[in-house]
Amino acid sequence: MEALYKHQIDFISYMQRLLQEGDFSSTYKFAFLHALADICIEKDVPNNGRLMISLNEIVEKLILLYWQHAKPFFSETGPQQQGGILLQNSGKQAKIIADICELQRSGANNLNQAKSSPLWPQIYRNTMRTLKEGPLWRLQVLSKVEECYLFLHIKNRPYIELNTGIADCFRMFHDLVVQFSRQGWIEKVSKIQENQQVIGRAGELSDFLFGTSRVSLKSASNLLKDIQKGNCFYCKKPLKGNAEVDHFIPFTKYNNDLGHNFVLAHKACNNNKRDYLAAPEHKTKWQEQNLVVNDKLITNELGTYFTCDAQRASHVADWAYHIAEKNGSKYWLASKDVFV
Ligand SMILES: [Zn+2]
Repeated sequence: MEALYKHQIDFISYMQRLLQEGDFSSTYKFAFLHALADICIEKDVPNNGRLMISLNEIVEKLILLYWQHAKPFFSETGPQQQGGILLQNSGKQAKIIADICELQRSGANNLNQAKSSPLWPQIYRNTMRTLKEGPLWRLQVLSKVEECYLFLHIKNRPYIELNTGIADCFRMFHDLVVQFSRQGWIEKVSKIQENQQVIGRAGELSDFLFGTSRVSLKSASNLLKDIQKGNCFYCKKPLKGNAEVDHFIPFTKYNNDLGHNFVLAHKACNNNKRDYLAAPEHKTKWQEQNLVVNDKLITNELGTYFTCDAQRASHVADWAYHIAEKNGSKYWLASKDVFV
């Protein structure tokens, strides 16, 4: 029983890392994860706990998942009559969307009709190639390293075999995995710049509801420039007007603003850190700078704008590092993807 429990915790931890440490330049990986979760509840799991899934099944599921996405989107709040097909890739449209558009233009109204279209064989091959070249192996790349927790990735096999117990976890946590992947998927689509003309004010709305006000960030920026003597918190080089306020404990992990949780960093350092936790040595430095030496100063200067409570900030940091350690997460050390 305990072993089973441990297995489930491992699964959830892996899912968290997958979404935080994975590199999602298109939406394919979200779709692939969604597809796996769906397929696992659509099939019986054999007694040995290892479910085999053919790539054929995955290809069909991907086309099914993207089917609706290939139709024009009309926002109710956005500029009217400007409905358009949303990009699912930064830059060029994802191949699968272009292909499904073609199927739909040829008169197919659903997957079954699509399968009897003369266009199907080519589109099936395209999608198979996309799957093999992209999400099939990229899904399990965490912080640039392939960690085959869900299934062993063996080239040129027409199927994957989920590792023992994985299918059961997908079944048990189906709603969670689907919610994770849909949320990441939506976020990815709404962040693609070209889509924002179509989506209208969705991005602004999310900033308004859950973001940090720019005016208050400015005050934090001015104070931290003094405290850090004009240097970047992480690489210690001069900021030279190229500074951004960074949430030391990433906003995605703890989405409240605490005055003590800010540091000032280069735009490049901040962007490269993304949603990672900084390496423990940065944590020590952060504690020293913000919770010990400048505790009172931060409270006095930023108290009007943010909750300022060094103890609370310290608890939140301990929680975040505790979870990361339990999950075996990587920590961000320095620019250009240096992790420890
Ligand atoms: Zn820097």
